[in-house]
Amino acid sequence: MNGKIKNRFIINYFIMFIISIVITILALVLMSFTSDIIYKNLTQNLCTAESIMNDDYQNINTAKVLEKGGGVQVIDRDYKVVFSAGLDNFGKARLTAGEFTDFLVNSNHPGITYDYDIAYNSKGQFWLIVTFPTSIRIDFGIAHNPESLETKGAAGVLIAILLFYFLMLGVTTVIYSLLTSFSFVNPLKKLIESTKRLKEGDYSARLNLNLKNEFKEIQETFNSMAEEIEREISLRKQAEEDRKRLVLDISHDLKNPLASIMGYAELCRENPHFTQDEYREYIRVIYDNSIRANTLISDLFNLSRLESSEFALNKSRVDLCEYVRAEMGNMLPILDQAGFRYDFDIPEDEMFVIIDQNQMARVFQNLLQNTVNYNPEGTLLTLILKKEDSEAIIILKDNGIGIPADLAKDIFKAFVRVDGARNSKTGGTGLGLAIVDKIIKAHDGSISLVTDEDCGCEFTIRLPIVK
Ligand code: ADP
Repeated sequence: MNGKIKNRFIINYFIMFIISIVITILALVLMSFTSDIIYKNLTQNLCTAESIMNDDYQNINTAKVLEKGGGVQVIDRDYKVVFSAGLDNFGKARLTAGEFTDFLVNSNHPGITYDYDIAYNSKGQFWLIVTFPTSIRIDFGIAHNPESLETKGAAGVLIAILLFYFLMLGVTTVIYSLLTSFSFVNPLKKLIESTKRLKEGDYSARLNLNLKNEFKEIQETFNSMAEEIEREISLRKQAEEDRKRLVLDISHDLKNPLASIMGYAELCRENPHFTQDEYREYIRVIYDNSIRANTLISDLFNLSRLESSEFALNKSRVDLCEYVRAEMGNMLPILDQAGFRYDFDIPEDEMFVIIDQNQMARVFQNLLQNTVNYNPEGTLLTLILKKEDSEAIIILKDNGIGIPADLAKDIFKAFVRVDGARNSKTGGTGLGLAIVDKIIKAHDGSISLVTDEDCGCEFTIRLPIVK
């Protein structure tokens, strides 16, 4: 991985280098070409020494040269400036032979800011020099004469310098690509490492790159994805454990009444000489156990119906105050019969909710039946209905025996009961509160419980209010 990215960078930089060299050469050629065009179009080229040459230098037509800011000098064989008009770069009346030779040699050197055009008039035996200040000129060119005996040596030095240049370039390219690839490869390595851990089932794997660039975004996306996977997996594990526990609880709870039914039926079959009273007693036991098995199965049926995707509430818009008042009215005989005290605080105003009235009736029946089933005579049951923001709050509490606080959060799960002995007396299935919870959730509401042993139970139901 590391090698691949690094190599890619080296190749990219090398290609870029070649391209830039080609572009540079092209630019130089173009500049030379441009310089040539500029040069050819300048006035100085239209006013060459040859074009204004006159055997009699006194009669040379200098008008055009002077008009364009140039100068004309005539130097005779004794290097004397015999004629001068306009721009004068010699500044003296006579030159030495050396000065004139230097001038001739240097007049074409790159970097000289004057353009000189020199012509020799053999008849008049003088040099005519036309001078123009250089506008812009680009001097670029390679000179080579195949006749030279030193070409090989010079070419060797040139090649050596070029090789050194390429070597330096290669080294810097590799260093640069290593540095650049390092900043990519390192975070990628960490990302791969964390991805592998995730793949191998370590869902706690997180990425920590300590970077502020685009990799930070990758880190955040990766970490939130890992969190989501971890959450999903734990939910799935929990669901699987719940399912196993449910199957175990169902078989356990069905086993006892069915074993009892089988045992007593067998007893009656094997003993035809039982008295009427004995038969009646055994049939009562069989009947009670079949009722228990039937209750369990119908509660289970209701719970799975509520969990099924095909289940739909039969909703209607109802005044909750009116509805709760009626439901409590229906429950009064049960409370009275059990010797319970009660206190209802239901407001007179209207508070509309959308509910399935039959399902919601089950909620009240289950909660009130539990209060009656698990608490002693004289227990006070309080119901408060109130509005809080856009929610209707129903508080149903008793001052009875309560539930141990550590069980409170699980009490809405199927088959969770306080203790077997207490329930075997009441015949509870452990499914009542699970059904209540499912119904309330299906209404987009919530139910919670605050309780502790000997502190009673306080159930709070929240339902969304509609207009
Ligand atoms: P069950 O069919 O056993 O009543 P529930 O799910 O309705 O199942 O209730 C779960 C357990 O919670 C009950 O077994 C009981 O121990 C406890 N419980 C529920 N309501 C009350 C209450 N009002 N007071 C005391 N204990 C309660």
